[in-house]
Amino acid sequence: MSTVLIIEDEKELANVLKAYLERSGYDVLLAQRGDEGLALWQKQNPDMVLLDLNLPGIDGIDIARQIRQEGDTPIIMVTARVEEVDRLLGLELGADDYITKPFSPREVVARVKAVLRRVEKAPAETQKIVKIDDLEIDQESHTVSQSGETLDLTPTEFDLLSTMAVQPGRAFSRLQLLEAIQGVAYEGYERSVDAHIKNLRAKLGDDSKDPRYIETVFGIGYRFKKGKK
Ligand code: CA
Repeated sequence: MSTVLIIEDEKELANVLKAYLERSGYDVLLAQRGDEGLALWQKQNPDMVLLDLNLPGIDGIDIARQIRQEGDTPIIMVTARVEEVDRLLGLELGADDYITKPFSPREVVARVKAVLRRVEKAPAETQKIVKIDDLEIDQESHTVSQSGETLDLTPTEFDLLSTMAVQPGRAFSRLQLLEAIQGVAYEGYERSVDAHIKNLRAKLGDDSKDPRYIETVFGIGYRFKKGKK
């Protein structure tokens, strides 16, 4: 059974989420202050954190930063500020997904499931090592190395890269990529793909204007560049 830590100061909202998640078979920990939430995370080591942005004590951004420094627990950020989304998914914070308020608890449960499924993906499902130029994508250990150096990718970034890299030259729409990384795709969230791609490019040292790896396909989405061979 997976444990989800909800850090949310709106009591009613937190309780509704807790009830929905418990009904779906999750253990739920609840904190209403940021500092309490961080302490619970450190003590209980949950499988996922559902993190509100504006919190008393320590705010969500600082909590996400702290969690990323100390571990790799998947994080779904919850925010009422859509304009914050790029930053939430930004390189520094590395949140795995975000949900904007207002949302339906059902949607939250679906997203929690999707992120956990992706993180817990059994190694047996995949087996090969994909080599493209100086990149080596190991789908068993979920690691990517570039000229022998291991890159520090989030699970989302790994899935994005590996989805595109196994079919070089194929253009993927943002919705297709969302579906590939989450198992489900919600319209209106395509923008999160752009944020993840941006992070991925930064980590690969790729230049969007003169890409070595990931090309933007105007009006569609992205594709992994076909190798020279
Ligand atoms: Ca709040």
